[in-house]
Amino acid sequence: MENCLFCRIIAGEIPSSKVYEDEHVFAFRDIDPQAPTHILIVPKAHCDSVMDASAETVGHMADAAKLLAVREGLNEKGFRLVINTGDEGGQSVKHLHLHLLGGRSMQWPPG
Ligand code: 5GP
Ligand code: ZN
Repeated sequence: MENCLFCRIIAGEIPSSKVYEDEHVFAFRDIDPQAPTHILIVPKAHCDSVMDASAETVGHMADAAKLLAVREGLNEKGFRLVINTGDEGGQSVKHLHLHLLGGRSMQWPPG
């Protein structure tokens, strides 16, 4: 997907603050952080949203999120994982991504 922002970040064509990479996923800090820790975990293979993703893909993202939550020191106090999907779900980038948010108290319900 040559015009996809996150595909271009994964390819290194657009700089990012990378925090993790493996065979399946790439993770980097959000450019507009909504919490002291705000990391985006994205599958290396493009898919538009979670509706197009396999259980394996979602599992690889969740595994990376757990590893990063521990690495960021969030696992004792807690953290939030979010997958915005579609327009009303607040998805602005049409490449599946898992938000890892932590380092402050979260509100519920979300806005
Ligand atoms: P969404 O709104 O689709 O759930 O999340 C997209 C996220 O991507 C937003 O939190 C936004 O701040 C982040 N974002 C958009 N463009 C860039 C960018 O060029 N670099 C980084 N690191 N994050 C971005
Ligand atoms: Zn993409």
